[in-house]
Amino acid sequence: MHGRDVAVVDGPWGDREVPAVDAVVTARRGLALAVLTADCTPVLLADPVAGVAGAAHAGRPGLVAGVVPAVVRAMTELGADPARILARTGPSVCGRCYEVPEEMRAEVAKTVPAAWAETSWGTAAVDVTAGVCSQLAHAGVKMEEHSHICTLESTDHFSYRRERTTGRLASYVWLGG
Ligand SMILES: [Zn+2]
Repeated sequence: MHGRDVAVVDGPWGDREVPAVDAVVTARRGLALAVLTADCTPVLLADPVAGVAGAAHAGRPGLVAGVVPAVVRAMTELGADPARILARTGPSVCGRCYEVPEEMRAEVAKTVPAAWAETSWGTAAVDVTAGVCSQLAHAGVKMEEHSHICTLESTDHFSYRRERTTGRLASYVWLGG
């Protein structure tokens, strides 16, 4: 959807209608949250003390819409403390590969300055993961680890930009009981 809506979940979807959101949070230990991507940035979060986990799909529009601060806020409402949240991002298209029109880069950087980037060949680009990291820092969340794998450069990973018709990478987060 590339929006900033967050769904609170307490079990598998089962027969229920799946909400059209880019982020899910849970206070249920043992429930795995998944995010599917192919170039966008998967963001996984957990506060092991509060027992709250979250997962978000952050592409360029979601980054600008604020899906990252929204998922942190939703976790906080379930009892998480941003200072305790562990955050990781998974493989995504890197800032040296994600070419965009000049105006688009300016538009993104107006909201998320850290996402301003340049391709390895010197044209306008957006670094979504750098933007995600800055938004997490702003929300008081310390980045535990961010993936250095570029999905466009790595043939071991699905890339929408490289292949158009491609699979999706699944990233999971859950807390033990
Ligand atoms: Zn790259």
